[in-house]
Amino acid sequence: MKKVIVSLLFGVGIYLCIPCCTSCRQSSPPTPGKFQVITTLFPLYDFARQIAGDKAEVSLLLPAGVEAHSFEPRPGDIVRISKADLFIYTGPLMEPWAEDILKGITNKELIVINASADILLSQEEDNHNEAHAHQAEVSTLDHEHEHGRQDPHIWVDPVLAQQIVSAIADGFAAKDPANKDYYLANAKAYNKKLADLDIQIRAALEKCSNKTIVYGGHFAFGYFARRYGLEHLSPYAGFSPNAEPTPRKITEMIETLKKAGTSYIYYEELLEPRVARIIAEGAGAELLLLHGAHNISREELEKGVTYLEIMEGNLERLKVGLGYHG
Ligand SMILES: [Zn+2]
Repeated sequence: MKKVIVSLLFGVGIYLCIPCCTSCRQSSPPTPGKFQVITTLFPLYDFARQIAGDKAEVSLLLPAGVEAHSFEPRPGDIVRISKADLFIYTGPLMEPWAEDILKGITNKELIVINASADILLSQEEDNHNEAHAHQAEVSTLDHEHEHGRQDPHIWVDPVLAQQIVSAIADGFAAKDPANKDYYLANAKAYNKKLADLDIQIRAALEKCSNKTIVYGGHFAFGYFARRYGLEHLSPYAGFSPNAEPTPRKITEMIETLKKAGTSYIYYEELLEPRVARIIAEGAGAELLLLHGAHNISREELEKGVTYLEIMEGNLERLKVGLGYHG
């Protein structure tokens, strides 16, 4: 099956909100000397705080432990965004609620960064294992879920993450031109760490005998799998955990796991791994975490976990599950 890469319709990553009227303009941020940055998902928060250094206050909109795809902003969140100087989100696929909020915001000073605007998004085609081979059997609901969807999980690929970092840095520079060099230098230093992570992952996965990630969570590692030449199987249709997999899909996954000659199945963060556990029990496999980094738990927040630590943890567990022979 062919892979279809299509670009997102949005041509620019940064734009200024147009005010509905001049009289309803929002006030300046409360902390003198620092501007306020609101981010939606954890990777954006972590990237933004690396770039901000001590010159801006960066906050994460999603409360710790909240599953990102089911997040709905509260009225207080909308107020926070409207008072911010910089708002960073993944894009309309991941945060469909953001578009409506942004349309209603009157703060003409707010700079909005759509992190996926300049990234070619993959459209599901052969991503979802055997979905099309069994198309005739798929219910109407499944069929709707399996077509015309694009994958929002760009941050799991350390190479695309560097593009996100650069887009965020440009936003900081636009907001605070006096410190442009500072932000760009921070971004460059952090992108070096992401480039090192990419090299580390590539080197380790080349020494893994198994090239298939059997995932009991939703399809979140498509970009990662493509980057490193892996196959990524998930019983979920679409790109969110909101639609439960069908019993037939679960049965297929059990059979796939048995045939793949691996004794590990991965589960996703923050959600009870009910589906992954059923598959693991059916195939006699063990569970391992593959953290999609959409958001972090309260415990992770208290520990001060970083994106790099999450990805390094993923790599260690991938080495276990994919048969690393260093
Ligand atoms: Zn996801």
